[in-house]
Amino acid sequence: MNRKTALIILLLLTSLAGFSQISIRMFARTRPSALFLTTVSGACLLHDEAEGEVRIDAGDIVAVSMHDSRIIYRTLSGIIGAADSLTFTPVSAGTLINLRAPGSNEPEKTLEGKIKIKPFPGSLLILNITTVENCLPGVVRAEAGKYGPSDYYKAQAVVARTYIYRNIDRHQLDGYNMCDDTHCQVYPGVVTDSVIVNACRYTAGRVITDRDSLLIEAAFHGNCGGETASSAEVWLAGYPYLVRVKDPWCSYSASARWRKSISLADWNNFLMSKGITPGSEGAIYGPQEPDRRRQATRRVQGKTVTSEEMRIRFGLRSAFFSLSPAGDSIAFNGRGYGHGVGLCQDGAKHMAEKKMAYDQITAFYYPGTMIIDIKNARKPPRP
Ligand SMILES: [Zn+2]
Ligand SMILES: [Zn+2]
Repeated sequence: MNRKTALIILLLLTSLAGFSQISIRMFARTRPSALFLTTVSGACLLHDEAEGEVRIDAGDIVAVSMHDSRIIYRTLSGIIGAADSLTFTPVSAGTLINLRAPGSNEPEKTLEGKIKIKPFPGSLLILNITTVENCLPGVVRAEAGKYGPSDYYKAQAVVARTYIYRNIDRHQLDGYNMCDDTHCQVYPGVVTDSVIVNACRYTAGRVITDRDSLLIEAAFHGNCGGETASSAEVWLAGYPYLVRVKDPWCSYSASARWRKSISLADWNNFLMSKGITPGSEGAIYGPQEPDRRRQATRRVQGKTVTSEEMRIRFGLRSAFFSLSPAGDSIAFNGRGYGHGVGLCQDGAKHMAEKKMAYDQITAFYYPGTMIIDIKNARKPPRP
């Protein structure tokens, strides 16, 4: 096989055209072993291999639980059954199904598409079989928040869609495409916010790629504090579009700057946990301007302390800060919220308010990228 043939085969293998259906594991964080399912509007057919099809009309409730790795179900109208797996199929396009997991602290979810339930070790595997475009408004609402301008949501929609397609086989070994938790992207179910729904429709099928049409790693965060971080510095994985960008757009936000003081006792405990003797840690108080480079790693008494370790230990809003002793406390003076890599949400929101279009926003935060249809995009080969 020559190089050209190999390249064509690789392109075919990594092509994403037609990949619009998606299976999402619901309640992935709490993994319940019982579930209440209600048809909110329309009707659906419950398919159980033994009984065949049972019609579930609006208002009927189906209680699902597990017994000896079999699925037991009982409807309010009195039908009882056991099966190895259950599928609920909507009879019409407008059917909405509500899921509630008793004993779970996750809110109930209203979903479009099919619901498939199987036993999974110790819990139910609850899958929503839907399309990328149908689940996108829910993902955007969860990741981007409320009350933003239209082009901000359009930017978040192409970011979320890019993320889904790039990570579509993340749970391949588990038998589904993505989970509804922060591990993948939070998916709360169907949302009705018309600005978000319209932003998703307007950008339908559009994704962000590099110049080789490869889907980008579409990282984003709350507020960069005036300068985004390069992924090479934060994650030790460099991408040509995840580089430092000076951001004049996010300083209006309350998240742009923060201060926090901790007691000297807490600080000394932290130093001792790192094997550093308190009182001679002067080298830790580095430059007085916040510094987010990995070089912000401080070496003290032969030990290293990173900004990230301090962020986790003291619950700081970002690892982009300076610190100094202030009497019987230590004062942190920081910028931004989150890891700082990729799109800055506060900045993107402000750019949209200033009438910048969504593709200008993504081009600003992911330099050298473009927006194309998913039909022409490819997933990068696995490393
Ligand atoms: Zn996941
Ligand atoms: Zn910013």
